[in-house]
Amino acid sequence: MSEGCSGNCASCSKDCSSKEKQSLLVPTGEYNDIKHVVAVVSGKGGVGKSMVTSLLAVTLAKRGYKVGILDADITGPSIPKAFGVTARALQGELGIMPAETKLGIKVISVNMMLSQNDAPVIWRGPVIAGAVKQFWQDVVWGELDYLLVDCPPGTGDVPLTVFQMLPLDGAVVVTSPQDLVSLIVKKALNMANMMNIPVYGIVENMSFVRCPDCGKEFPVFGTGGEDIAKETGTKLLSRMPIDVSLSQMVDNGSIEHFDGDYLSATADVIENKKG
Ligand code: ADP
Repeated sequence: MSEGCSGNCASCSKDCSSKEKQSLLVPTGEYNDIKHVVAVVSGKGGVGKSMVTSLLAVTLAKRGYKVGILDADITGPSIPKAFGVTARALQGELGIMPAETKLGIKVISVNMMLSQNDAPVIWRGPVIAGAVKQFWQDVVWGELDYLLVDCPPGTGDVPLTVFQMLPLDGAVVVTSPQDLVSLIVKKALNMANMMNIPVYGIVENMSFVRCPDCGKEFPVFGTGGEDIAKETGTKLLSRMPIDVSLSQMVDNGSIEHFDGDYLSATADVIENKKG
């Protein structure tokens, strides 16, 4: 590919050879009808990207949508744990069968294919990217309104694969308010822009702790989400507090029981009600 080519020809005016103009999008399996694909990305690990993916899936499922989660965080998969999914993925007649949670959210993750939960995935980048492609192509998702893709942090091979191969409607960018994280999240935003992936906006996680007695918000890591949104011309969609009940629910696999509305504004934008 020529210099500066993102592989996305849709909005590029360059006059390349016809070979280069081929789209890198990969079709999903013939039994799948997936209406919208949304990537959840972050610049840095540990900011709560998987938490946001899980809660967003729960929020959309509770609104009556058919939702799936493709856990593309191959070396640090945390989606099955949050939903209490312990079953192995089975090879059915039509392809790989995802797990289905109590709310009917379909989940696929590399952890569902390992003999032991704590077995490390020691694969090189292209193999990891190949696994993501297989999850997209060979999993029997059936009919979905939304497929959420939990990308690994950063701007490496897998986010690149997701951005190039999957027909994304857009990306949600997760950050926490620390300066360092804010700096790095701009790289993720810039990557999406360079590859012509629409960004719905930013979710600022761990924004504050709410005092259980007086209800006052304490921004323990500082404030910053609003500034990044302004600087990058993006919207701050939601601010999520540090909430012990959330981490407890992830730890005991019951994230679907969470009843809060931290991500309802983000779900509104994805549903295209606002934005
Ligand atoms: P990432 O996917 O960005 O690496 P995770 O979603 O796995 O991050 O979150 C990292 C840890 O922080 C997990 O143990 C998770 O349960 C916890 N966590 C994330 N967001 C919150 C929150 N808002 N309140 C409490 N704990 C959180």
